Amino acid sequence: MDPELDNIISILNPKTTPVSSTQARFRIRNSKPSPNNIRSRQSHSLPPQKSQVQVKTEKSIDVKLDEEEEELPDSVIQNINEFYKVEDEEFKKTVTTGKTGAPILWMRHFTKREENDIKNETGVATWIKGKRFLVFRPYIDPMNIQPKLNLETNYFFRMMHSDVKLIRYTLEDNGFIEAPPNKNNWTIMWHGGPIKMNVYQALSKYQKVNHFPRSYEITRKDLMYKNLAKMQVLYGTKAYDFVPKTFIVPQDAGQLEFEMANEDTVWIVKPSASSQGKGIFLATKFSEIPKSGHVISQYIDNPLLIQGLKFDLRVYIAITCFNPLRIYIYKDGLVRFATQKYQGTGKGSRFMYLTNYSVNKFSTNFVENTNALEDGKGSKWSHTALRKLFKQEGIDDTKIWEKIKDIAIKTILSIEGIVFSACEMHLPYRNNCIELLGFDILIDDNLNPWLLEVNLSPSLNCDAPIDQKIKGELIADLFTLAGVVPTDQRNGGDKANENKALNYAAYMEQFMTLSNKKKNKKAGWNFDNKPYSSESLKDIDSREEKGIIKETNYEYKRRGGFERIFPSEISINYKNFFERERPYNALLCNKFGKIHRKGQGGSAVIYRKPPRNPSKTQIE
Ligand code: ADP
Repeated sequence: MDPELDNIISILNPKTTPVSSTQARFRIRNSKPSPNNIRSRQSHSLPPQKSQVQVKTEKSIDVKLDEEEEELPDSVIQNINEFYKVEDEEFKKTVTTGKTGAPILWMRHFTKREENDIKNETGVATWIKGKRFLVFRPYIDPMNIQPKLNLETNYFFRMMHSDVKLIRYTLEDNGFIEAPPNKNNWTIMWHGGPIKMNVYQALSKYQKVNHFPRSYEITRKDLMYKNLAKMQVLYGTKAYDFVPKTFIVPQDAGQLEFEMANEDTVWIVKPSASSQGKGIFLATKFSEIPKSGHVISQYIDNPLLIQGLKFDLRVYIAITCFNPLRIYIYKDGLVRFATQKYQGTGKGSRFMYLTNYSVNKFSTNFVENTNALEDGKGSKWSHTALRKLFKQEGIDDTKIWEKIKDIAIKTILSIEGIVFSACEMHLPYRNNCIELLGFDILIDDNLNPWLLEVNLSPSLNCDAPIDQKIKGELIADLFTLAGVVPTDQRNGGDKANENKALNYAAYMEQFMTLSNKKKNKKAGWNFDNKPYSSESLKDIDSREEKGIIKETNYEYKRRGGFERIFPSEISINYKNFFERERPYNALLCNKFGKIHRKGQGGSAVIYRKPPRNPSKTQIE
């Protein structure tokens, strides 16, 4: 056992005595389970795909099995055994109950990769090839129990203009405490709204904040439509056909009046800078439209219905860097249902045409989720449950998810130029920020996803067990992805990295002096929309480039439940949507890209809206 490593683990597990890197995979409460009982519990009283094992004494070990697996894999059993160093103790499934009286503990996912990590002792709370980052565990205790603070770890966080309980508890549970107001030695800042530029300018290398400068350009409704309209003008409406036709008043009032007079359509009217369904209504006449401060979108009147109810998806997207651009999608999210049967446009109440939780929780028909493990019941589901239903119904949803990834990338590309410049101007280090965005997606009855809006600070409230399960893991994985370095790596860290000369300005200078041909080659662009073969990459050997690839690979290893969607095998297909060619993006495109063959799928293929299907999809 490495003493340094143990130190990190004890920081990550302040309530427990230090354990080894392998052992840190498990969530410990107080005592000792036995492998035999893990087996029997799994086969008798739990649903086949999930197993939650706890001991009478409130010690728990939470394990998730792959669906097909009958028993825990030997590697896991062995580790559990070693961990607890006991042979037999009676297992009992105990359930911690939250406000709703529901079980709120769940099991941490074991992917094949994690299993291998455990086997090879390279799992969480360890360092990756000599480069160490903190790995966060999700907060799984009831939200009405505050984590015990560990005052000795020297990890600080700061909350500004918000106090999100889940963020606070996750950080405190992982050994962080709130920084005193007069101290600037925090590692993570969670900021309620856009961050002032002077805050960015004062950041140290090790500090992480949760917004990029000017990311609000896609999260304010009017700005998002303005930016997407710009992309439609530049690249064609076909490429950006995932947003309904939208106008902003007062500036587009004339055009809107014309449209409303000539088209027999219903419009949905939303305040430009509002959320949670506040102030939204449907309109058919121009006289009903407020004079200013609103966006007016064509109402999508053919939503896919489940048991007659409209629903939308909350999709979580993380951006870790704009230079090079790196975007991730989270493996799970929420499905939010309306609470009154859909009867077509204009009829029925807000409970019929709005899917916001904040609206529908007041409906008498609202059904609260009471058990995180029953994620396909009630008015809020998980994506996993929805996908299971799609499968049962014979709906191939792969295309839907590919399109959602495409929507996320193209939407972010609509502000890439703006944010890139703001980062260049205000960020001392390229990796100071991480952004978690909540994309609201509506699926119509042709199985086409539509982007409704993007949220800057997606709700992290944990009103129901399903919220805490999904958001708890999401936040732990987000902080892990952020790449927080242990305290002992901070000092001198800046200097060391300066020496590595990840200096974009110098790189650009070198790049600009190359001839056009060489420049294109170096940047990885060619005009056939194909990346260069790996052979050509031999030419690229500068330290910056190696550094970028290394940093990208390390980050990839920390991805947890995130899937990287940019750069990816097909990211070359997005090169035309960039305001400018960026060498670092080109480098990664070449590194991770595969030549895209026409007609072979891939999310960047511009998709045409399928014609209206006369037999609409409906799920009973
Ligand atoms: P808010 O930020 O207030 O939640 P949204 O843009 O997310 O505003 O809209 C709220 C809800 O209204 C959505 O969750 C969705 O159910 C419905 N909605 C919004 N835009 C449309 C649209 N163009 N067509 C159909 N329904 C929509």
